[in-house]
Amino acid sequence: MKQEETYWFIFIGNALMLEHDDKGYRVPYGTEPPLPMKEWTPQQVLPKLDGKPCIAYSLDTPPADMKGLETVGLRESWHVLPHDVYNVAGKAAELLYWDSNTRYCGVCGAPMKRNTVISKQCTHCGKEVWPQVSPAIIVRIKRGDDILLVHSRNFRRSEMYGLVAGFVETGETLEECVIREVKEEVGLQIDNIRYFGSQAWPYPCGVMIGFTADYVSGEIHLQEEELSQARWFNRDHLPPIPDKMSIARKLIDDYIAERETENK
Ligand SMILES: [Zn+2]
Repeated sequence: MKQEETYWFIFIGNALMLEHDDKGYRVPYGTEPPLPMKEWTPQQVLPKLDGKPCIAYSLDTPPADMKGLETVGLRESWHVLPHDVYNVAGKAAELLYWDSNTRYCGVCGAPMKRNTVISKQCTHCGKEVWPQVSPAIIVRIKRGDDILLVHSRNFRRSEMYGLVAGFVETGETLEECVIREVKEEVGLQIDNIRYFGSQAWPYPCGVMIGFTADYVSGEIHLQEEELSQARWFNRDHLPPIPDKMSIARKLIDDYIAERETENK
């Protein structure tokens, strides 16, 4: 395969293959894929980056010759790549996930074939499928000058606290989801639910929708299967919190900044 100068987003599982030197990490760039693409390897055409095409493909196993490339987890790549490049990598990961999970028709079991760049069609019954996005809410609850932080049993960093979050259920509005998740996870009533912002979350195909809300009533009752701790914290005494790539951190940073604004 030969074509114009292209950014190559190559995945092995959830890890990206990146060039690395004393100037930092880069997505491989050139007229040919730096690692061989197998014929059956899923490929996706992505939006352009700096006017140059981006192509993603995945390898089942690391090749014997890595051609000097290093594997960096997609999550970790946020810290070493420019954010517009990370965003393309995230979209690439979501499309590759979708591709590998829609090889056969969910209705009749026949093979699916690519119909358009972002859709596939069943070769037998004609059913069409598009990449799915799973929405989840995340909410910062304020009581007086404090916010509620929770410690989830599945946090990667064991000492870290985050915010109440959960997947939107069928037939539910986002606001209903916020109220339900807060009730289920910590047993509290809230109101004044306000949209804060959102973030693509390609782990594997989510979008996180952030809200703020105010505490109304109730004592903290933990949903023990998901949470091991929930407490009110003040910005002056925060525990370890999520790193800056997440909307959870943006919500907490926004709360910390309220004080700085007041002091100006
Ligand atoms: Zn079918």
